[in-house]
Amino acid sequence: MTKNETLAPLQIELREAMAGWGCPLCRLADRAERNFIDSLSYERVLDIKTRAALQAARGLCAVHSRQWQNLQGGALGVAIVYRVAVLDLLRETEAAMQPSGGFLRRGRTEAGQLARELEPTGPCPVCEIGQGTAQRFAELLLKDIAAPEVQTLLRDCGGLCLPHLRMTLSQPGAGKVSRLLLEAQRAAWQRLIGEVDEFIRKNDYRFHHEALTDQEADSWIRAIDTLVGKS
Ligand SMILES: [Zn+2]
Ligand SMILES: [Zn+2]
Repeated sequence: MTKNETLAPLQIELREAMAGWGCPLCRLADRAERNFIDSLSYERVLDIKTRAALQAARGLCAVHSRQWQNLQGGALGVAIVYRVAVLDLLRETEAAMQPSGGFLRRGRTEAGQLARELEPTGPCPVCEIGQGTAQRFAELLLKDIAAPEVQTLLRDCGGLCLPHLRMTLSQPGAGKVSRLLLEAQRAAWQRLIGEVDEFIRKNDYRFHHEALTDQEADSWIRAIDTLVGKS
């Protein structure tokens, strides 16, 4: 399979996600997360299922809350969801303030209990969307890695980040093709090491006159991406 016409839409999407540098699963997950946040309009946050998930999670996680905050036109949706979250905090701490059940009077155990009760009871719905997307594409990658052009694309984009590599290796059926996956990963890591080595060498005053290539110049940032995923 070399022509796009013979590929399913998701296979094309996966290949396109490997066109630039960086973990394709990070890119695909990030896109799905942004699309979901974009859809968190006024109407969407009033939808019962979404509202319940947002209430259990006490809004979105820190990263996605800030994405939502910075989204043009997101203010009203944010106000509605976080109003509920703050009201929940007031309601859930009310009993602790009663003279009979006041945790302040009863000390550390009750304070610790309250701390646990204030924990969200559900995951950030946007994180869940991202994880689900990454998982689906990880399964697809395991099927497609047998294609030489996918191995080349994966190597040239720098491979998967470590969290997504581990996720992919943990999928059922990874055993059979893990060698192909690892080959592409190791080739990508070796290339990165070469660039980081040059970055370090050329930072030495004796070699300062040697110009860094573009790849060498940001290799130290891509080393972080490789370990923790793309932000
Ligand atoms: Zn990743
Ligand atoms: Zn999140």
